[in-house]
Amino acid sequence: MRGLGKRYGANWAVRHLDFAVEVGRTVALLGANGAGKTTTIAMILGLLEPTEGEIRVFGERVPEHRYRVLHRLNFSSPYVDLPGRLTVRQNLEVYARLYGVPDRHRRLAELAHDLLLADLLDRPTNRLSAGQKTRLALAKALVNQPDLLILDEPTASLDPDTADQLRGYLERYARRGDKTILMASHNMQEVERLCDEVLLVHGGRLVERGSPQALIRRFGRRNLEEVFLAVARGWENTGA
Ligand code: ATP
Repeated sequence: MRGLGKRYGANWAVRHLDFAVEVGRTVALLGANGAGKTTTIAMILGLLEPTEGEIRVFGERVPEHRYRVLHRLNFSSPYVDLPGRLTVRQNLEVYARLYGVPDRHRRLAELAHDLLLADLLDRPTNRLSAGQKTRLALAKALVNQPDLLILDEPTASLDPDTADQLRGYLERYARRGDKTILMASHNMQEVERLCDEVLLVHGGRLVERGSPQALIRRFGRRNLEEVFLAVARGWENTGA
């Protein structure tokens, strides 16, 4: 994206944002609450119209030509609820049909197994726990095996064991080579484990980028959590 900006009234949620994500990489968007991560993701998905700038996904302009690429993307967020009265199976069926997934029943069985949903398939979605909903949101995001997988807080509300299993799953997905993942996360261990590159945003602007290891070295810290704290507190102290 180039020169991307989104303004709400007098306030810019995102401003002058420039970055490209290489195919096959797993990239994290990091930043404090309100930094502009969700707004950026919504613009990439074509759900929000940018105030200025340009977004291209697989070479196509978004939002103008998003229908040319939407079948190659998918998205999960713990903050977007799937229809609550539908069962887990029905929700996954709906999305599998929407994306024209071939051999739907086999794909659903795979997802139920991989995302630990097999025992929950006939449960109405509004009776799931927060962590179970997160797993369903991930299953929905993977239903079409997207080339670009966009994840907002992929392991929010998951217990440590389940989070570890799902990170392992995402790692294997990313290793398939042609799969690109862009994720917003507040979990620095997750980012260190999964991501090739980190984009640090603050006040809607890109302020640092690099691999987790490069950022750790550049800031002379022991881990990404310390980098994040150093950078965030630095900004607070400068009033930025
Ligand atoms: P978090 O980590 O809390 O999810 P974020 O980085 O995803 O934060 P955004 O949700 O993108 O942040 O919000 C960026 C800024 O835009 C914030 O200051 C927020 O208050 C503002 N904002 C977001 N949506 C709207 C809206 N619909 N109307 C007005 N301001 C908004």
